[in-house]
Amino acid sequence: TVKNGTNPNYVYYNESIRIRLREEKNVESRMLSALENHEFTVYYQPKVELKTGRIACAEALVRWKTSDGAVISPDYFIPVFERKFLIGQLDQYVFEEVCRWLKSLLDQGREVLPVSVNVSRLQFYDLDFVSRYVEIRDKYQIPPRLLEIEFTESMVFDKEELLIQIVKQLKKEGFSCSIDDFGKGYSSLSLLKSIPIDVLKIDRLFFVESEDKGKDAAVIEGIIDLVKRFHIQTVAEGIETWEQVEYLKHIGCDFVQGYVYYRPMPEEEFEQLLEQQ
Ligand code: C2E
Ligand code: MG
Ligand code: MG
Ligand code: MG
Repeated sequence: TVKNGTNPNYVYYNESIRIRLREEKNVESRMLSALENHEFTVYYQPKVELKTGRIACAEALVRWKTSDGAVISPDYFIPVFERKFLIGQLDQYVFEEVCRWLKSLLDQGREVLPVSVNVSRLQFYDLDFVSRYVEIRDKYQIPPRLLEIEFTESMVFDKEELLIQIVKQLKKEGFSCSIDDFGKGYSSLSLLKSIPIDVLKIDRLFFVESEDKGKDAAVIEGIIDLVKRFHIQTVAEGIETWEQVEYLKHIGCDFVQGYVYYRPMPEEEFEQLLEQQ
């Protein structure tokens, strides 16, 4: 009922939005101070080459280590960073952390492997994106072949030309480039023809049990055959069983990234693992 011009439902609605915004504001300042206080840390998940069984490279995955010791997954805070247009800062922080780590290994004369980093689709709106990454890489003197940039497939939708341009610029600077989560969103086969990527990462959704298993297999096998002709390497993501590994070997997939081999791990743990290899 509307009494004195106020609708109680409307008031309630307003109130809940106010509370949500207030919380979001706190989240934003918490995120910013977490960035300044170096509460974000980088985990590394190895990618295993199926032909040799060796760790060939790794993906850098951000984690939030809060002051009370909790480790928070990116699915929780990346959307907030994106909503607040702070994701560029976070991505850059992760990239710089990776460069710092590679530099310390190189300085010690230890073995290094290529590392890939994720970038948000919102980086498309930042015209200085490529030059900023080049600047950071040069600051740490990292050979560009050691660095790979992962673009999520879902960012491609209606921004195909822009993505192709950015990838071409990155390739000119010597970076490797990949498309992440392929098959999860709006996949376009014509994109694969025109984009000079080095690696295609097939989303783990393709490998989970489903009623369409037979069709999924046909799609994966078709994609692997297709991109081989373009000299693009393939990574299967989210692989959890040895049965899947055998299948992927059989169909000629190049790399596997999944819990079956390794979970993402802190820098020190990854260093130890590399020593053993
Ligand atoms: P992604 O780039 O597709 O990374 C792979 C995700 O799959 C990681 O989740 C990894 O831990 C998980 N994963 C790996 N193997 C398995 C497996 O066998 N089973 C299952 N169930 N999961 C597996 P994580 O680390 O939670 O990251 C989630 C997403 O957050 C990433 O997906 C990526 O899109 C985003 N992300 C992570 N770090 C960054 C970053 O620095 N910047 C940006 N923009 N996004 C990031
Ligand atoms: Mg990724
Ligand atoms: Mg992925
Ligand atoms: Mg993903």
